Amino acid sequence: MADIVIVGGGPGGYAAALYAHNFGLDVALVEKERPGGTCLIRGCIPAKQWLHVAEVFSTVSHAADFGVVSSQPELDWQAALARKNQTVEGLVRGLGGLLKKRRVEVVTGFGKLNGHGRVEVSGDEGNRTLEAENVILATGSHARSIPGYDIDGHKIVTSDHALDWESQPRRVGIVGGGVIGCEFASFLADVGSEVHVFEMLDQIVPGTDPESAKMLQRQLQKRGVKFHIGVGVGPAQIGESVVIPFGDDSVEVDVALVSVGRGPNTDGVGLETTKAEVDRGFVKVDASTMQTAQPGLYAVGDIVAGTPQLAHVGFAEGIAAVTHIATGNAQPVDYRAIPRVTYTHPEVAEVGLTVEEAEAQGLEIETTKHAFNGVGRAIIIGQNQGHAKVISVKDGPIVGASVVGPQAGELIHELMYSVGWEALPSEAAAFIHAHPTLSEAIGETLMSAAGKSLH
Ligand SMILES: Cc1cc2nc3c(=O)[nH]c(=O)nc-3n(C[C@H](O)[C@H](O)[C@H](O)COP(=O)(O)OP(=O)(O)OC[C@H]3O[C@@H](n4cnc5c(N)ncnc54)[C@H](O)[C@@H]3O)c2cc1C
Repeated sequence: MADIVIVGGGPGGYAAALYAHNFGLDVALVEKERPGGTCLIRGCIPAKQWLHVAEVFSTVSHAADFGVVSSQPELDWQAALARKNQTVEGLVRGLGGLLKKRRVEVVTGFGKLNGHGRVEVSGDEGNRTLEAENVILATGSHARSIPGYDIDGHKIVTSDHALDWESQPRRVGIVGGGVIGCEFASFLADVGSEVHVFEMLDQIVPGTDPESAKMLQRQLQKRGVKFHIGVGVGPAQIGESVVIPFGDDSVEVDVALVSVGRGPNTDGVGLETTKAEVDRGFVKVDASTMQTAQPGLYAVGDIVAGTPQLAHVGFAEGIAAVTHIATGNAQPVDYRAIPRVTYTHPEVAEVGLTVEEAEAQGLEIETTKHAFNGVGRAIIIGQNQGHAKVISVKDGPIVGASVVGPQAGELIHELMYSVGWEALPSEAAAFIHAHPTLSEAIGETLMSAAGKSLH
């Protein structure tokens, strides 16, 4: 009998399995495929590999701007796909090795809860029952669709299929302009596909700072992405091509990529045999311990109700659950300071509250902004579009930030500390940033937030 049985080997489940070794706990990890989950196999990692392909392609295409003469690049799609597969394979194999080293028993098969502390596993090697005082459910999520867009993997696809396209699609209609939709738009436009993005709400990447979202939209538009904002799409008409109707208009593409959000994988996992409570398929937990209403049953990652669907949130929730199991103490995830990155070109990265959220909480706030256009390093690399924005309470701490520009996903982390430690702008601005760096955009914003600007 293990100390913990974990169902699902994505970031939430595998982080819990790895972290348990710090407490000397015996762990069985049930996974129906291979440990890695959406993130490693068909999410974060392959998507960022394709975005890097686009970045290399763009860099070479624009080499002449820097006086480096080369012929126009050509994309060898098959080689890029092989590179993506190699990266994924390397990380999945590495994770397998790490789990083995930490003596985690990986049980291959579909796990189903059967009352308190019991998991029935059915797989190619037959059925097996695992028992433990504590069970962590980490079954993750799947891509959703909308009426009129039945996923067939060819003409109507999700990110799962798009990451494995055998050849470059010439014309793509992306239904849903959220993080995943925009990342695909950025990558596909940079390698020369015709891209249309349809977003029902009034801005792309809904939930991000509207000004940062607008800046991203402008940059993508300049590179050829056609946005249809504030429109609902009608059912796709599928023939040789795919026609996507919207309003009185329509667009003809070769493939429709549906990216309208992700639903929880909780059907058929036996939650009804426990006291756990569910909200539209998502599992409700006590946010300080990740325990469900069934004592000894925890949920982490994308299946959790009301927490962000991000890999690093899954890691943190896995750690919180294991800490509670091992010590009986709550070590809650600090949801206030979780970075959220859209890995488009340029990247958009945020942490803490947006202006709208701060105002909704009744906070009297101040925002300070510094553009990248005068930042030396940004000019050197030819990427001086965008800005850093810091949101602070009047005469109080920094509560949020939004950065759109080069390497925003890296830059956001210093603001993560500011938000997490509730730093005053004057405290954060007291530290010196190296020159010439992109981070200077943050330093300058902090100085302005502290009331004394430099450049
Ligand atoms: C295209 C794309 C790009 C993304 N990019 C990013 C990014 O850049 N950064 C980021 O933070 N997040 C990103 N995400 C989101 C991220 O992938 C998820 O938040 C993360 O993978 C969730 O982890 P999880 O452990 O909850 O679930 P998952 O990663 O979905 O893993 C769940 C695992 O459980 C297994 N499983 C399910 N049911 C059972 C069962 N009954 N029995 C046994 N096994 C089961 C599945 O096979 C799977 O391996 C991206 C997602 C997509 C789709």
